[in-house]
Amino acid sequence: MKPHVAFLPSPGMGHFIPLFQLARSLVFNRGFQVSFFVITTQASAAQDHFIRSAAEISPDLRIISLPEADVSGVMFEDMRLLTKICVIARESIKPIKPMLIELNPTPVALIIDIFTTDAIELSIPVYSFFTASTSLLALSLYMPTLDLEVEGEFVDLPAPVEIPGCKPLLIEDLLDQVKDRKNDEYKWYLLNVSRLKYAAGILVNSWENLDIQRITALKQNAFFRSIPTPPVFPIGPLIKVEETLTAKDAEILAWLDNQPCESVLLVALGSGGTLSSKQLIELAWGLEMSKQKFILVVRKPTDASASGTYFTVGSDEDDPLAYLPDGFLERTRGDGIVVPTWVPQISVLRHRSTGAFLSHCGWNSTLESLVQGIPIIAWPLFAEQRMNATMLVEEVGVAVKAAPKIVEAVVGRKEIETVVREVMEGEKGKMMRRRAAELKRSAAEALESGGSSHRSLSLLVDIWKSKY
Ligand code: UDP
Repeated sequence: MKPHVAFLPSPGMGHFIPLFQLARSLVFNRGFQVSFFVITTQASAAQDHFIRSAAEISPDLRIISLPEADVSGVMFEDMRLLTKICVIARESIKPIKPMLIELNPTPVALIIDIFTTDAIELSIPVYSFFTASTSLLALSLYMPTLDLEVEGEFVDLPAPVEIPGCKPLLIEDLLDQVKDRKNDEYKWYLLNVSRLKYAAGILVNSWENLDIQRITALKQNAFFRSIPTPPVFPIGPLIKVEETLTAKDAEILAWLDNQPCESVLLVALGSGGTLSSKQLIELAWGLEMSKQKFILVVRKPTDASASGTYFTVGSDEDDPLAYLPDGFLERTRGDGIVVPTWVPQISVLRHRSTGAFLSHCGWNSTLESLVQGIPIIAWPLFAEQRMNATMLVEEVGVAVKAAPKIVEAVVGRKEIETVVREVMEGEKGKMMRRRAAELKRSAAEALESGGSSHRSLSLLVDIWKSKY
């Protein structure tokens, strides 16, 4: 019988997709069978769609839906996103223990992610797949120390946060969830990251060549050793490999087929990203004024929160196109495509006509862009996206920020026009494209047999097989 590993991702496509890719790779390349637990409580339509197409992949990859939990008495509208995710995860995981025991053979490991740490108490080796960047992992492992050392709010610190062995972290880039320590969101985050040290190992979706300084610090720096940090396994970049295409998706790709090489800018802000109505109008004007070809994914704007569609993405909303400037669709017809809600991002990034990506810098989108050698216009919105954007601009050299500070203020159409032109036709764009091509090669090498990430995963596979 094949060795058996179980997975438990927390809600949200950004968590779900990389864990699923690892599950797939264990089944198809490493001779495992996998039980993939899915949290169904308030799942987005995008997740349901993904699961339906995943269920048929292989008899060795079993999707097990956890029963929908009743969260009516514990989850409230005014809670922030991270609190909602954690509450849903906690309530949904409750029945997992008997479900795990019933599995035959018993899994040799359970792979969780950052918000399903309640599972650490189960009597099975638990590995955490940290699906965000290594800069967030380093901050997360350092957070319990920072929490003890700093009295007030981190945002009032006079200087960047010095994480041992890593580049200092700018206060303005700190993830939103640690900006108000009195909010429940911070407490949930701290609780979950404090448990990272109990994992049997931490898998990261990165590779040595992209991130050598932090990976070395996580493995060797005296501070991280003292936590003690579990063994760290950089196994990335793991990204979605295929997408089920709808008829509408096929039309988008057919349009791309007719465009010149590297001439199209993809504008997509992840599964949850939304703009304010004012910002959407400026963005549309900026694109039009740049006279570049584009694919623009539009969500109904929300003026309340930049993570507006996290739980609803992929569902039919009222028409988001109605929020674009008057006449925009007619004026840009032929040069741009506007797609409501969701684009087949992997297929678009992989297409030869795509030349750049205006992205919120979620970690999956970042990796998907790097794997295809596509430069990025960074438009971070929430969570740790500002940290990722700074890393891509200052360390990696494949991105430029749409505007230095885009959280509070609206980025104007002129600024957007300038940055889009600079990346699509300017010298800076050419440099970024060359660097992105290097990273594309280095990502592929890391995953090849004998490459750094392949070796890292082999180490884990050997551990799991030895327990079988
Ligand atoms: N995605 C997509 N089409 C869209 C928006 C997002 O296919 O229109 C996918 C994208 O390819 C990525 C994931 O959704 O795999 C988003 O993950 P990421 O970590 O970038 O951001 P998050 O959604 O967690 O903010």
